[in-house]
Amino acid sequence: MNSITKITPFTAQQTTLLAKDQQFVWHPYSSLSAPIPAYEVVAAEGVYLELADGRKLIDGMASWWCAIHGYNHPLLNAAAKNQIDKVSHVMFGGITHAPAVELCEKLVAITPAGLDKVFLSDSGSVAVEVAIKMAFQYWISRGQPQKSKLLTLRRGYHGDTFAAMSVCDPETGMHHMFDQVVARHYFAPAPQIGVHETWNEDDIAEFASIITEQKEQLAAVILEPIVQGAGGMRFYSADYLRRVRELCDQHNVLLIADEIATGFGRTGKLFACEWAGISPDILCLGKAITGGYMTLAATLCSEEVSRGICEGEAGCFMHGPTFMGNPLACAVANASIDLLLSGDWQANIQRIENRLSKELAVFAQLDNVADVRVLGAIGVIEMQQPVNLAEIQKRFVEQGIWVRPFGKLVYVMPPYIISDEQLKMLVAGIYTVLTS
Ligand SMILES: *Cc1c(COP(=O)(O)O)cnc(C)c1O
Repeated sequence: MNSITKITPFTAQQTTLLAKDQQFVWHPYSSLSAPIPAYEVVAAEGVYLELADGRKLIDGMASWWCAIHGYNHPLLNAAAKNQIDKVSHVMFGGITHAPAVELCEKLVAITPAGLDKVFLSDSGSVAVEVAIKMAFQYWISRGQPQKSKLLTLRRGYHGDTFAAMSVCDPETGMHHMFDQVVARHYFAPAPQIGVHETWNEDDIAEFASIITEQKEQLAAVILEPIVQGAGGMRFYSADYLRRVRELCDQHNVLLIADEIATGFGRTGKLFACEWAGISPDILCLGKAITGGYMTLAATLCSEEVSRGICEGEAGCFMHGPTFMGNPLACAVANASIDLLLSGDWQANIQRIENRLSKELAVFAQLDNVADVRVLGAIGVIEMQQPVNLAEIQKRFVEQGIWVRPFGKLVYVMPPYIISDEQLKMLVAGIYTVLTS
């Protein structure tokens, strides 16, 4: 059979975009055997997503933490257009360019002290792979190759690639299914003391005993500081993080902070590590780094880690993605970071936090709600039971809002430009859906 006769002609219905979407296109965590129809977005402006049928939805998700300045922002558009007329992409091996150098200098300046070297990559999961590889290569170079295990927290999420998967929560992650192929690491219980609660040393007792017993084989601790995102949307005490830093120092274990979700102001600090006043040895950034325009991520490390790696047998760090340091992405990232820092972003996040706290308080009284929590520009409603995603998604859209729950969690992390009025409409829409 030749390739032309293999193509079946589309029926009238299949020719619609959504039918083709279901026929050909995989979406995140989706089935192609029993597909749930997706919504076609034709434009986006500010906090609004515009659907093909003309409806405009207030985006409560900021496209999964990314679109902090909203959509179609003139300054970010200009940065992309300006760069595209110069060079869209060029290999990074043996070549450099101003957008990447400017970005790396900027990241070193704004991140916690001691993170002095930057490795650029193309997505959050890859930034995590790079961080883990840095930790392993560091100990190999320093003559301690047996330090090849990681310690992490239950309820964590670090991405979908294999090393990242190995440190995601073993229950909600993919450990069961990929049992034979996922590397085995150590898990401490998820922190129980909330971000605004009084510290109790018991909360870190098991973590402390694992790191004490396993220090000879531990390369690094990896965790999401203060906010555990996709593994449960949980906020924990800064004292926990402070103690982790102390225990890592005490037992000669590196600390990797995954700020892919929390970075760039989301929690009310520019980086969540600042809540505890600590610096990790390795830091992962992604998501909001370009304001949601392009895919880009970064892994920063200390001078000590970079020197350790480069003074070892290999003489270099063994990683180099094809699209490393993509100039378009770097140019937009520079514009996005400048835009964020040019305004009073912290007061703005405080405004959103105050609003969310006020508007979400009523949900705590609902019988079907287990918990309500707010930190920075993140609002979480934890239900008693998992929601029916296909069903509830449709009802949110009918309310003119874009909210995408997972499991028992109905949550929002809107673009920072959202107005009080829009926040009110967003929360009112959620209330209508959860109470009817
Ligand atoms: C989203 C996320 C990742 C993975 O990033 P991708 O860009 O989806 O690969 C890793 N860690 C955390 C904390 C995240 O929120």
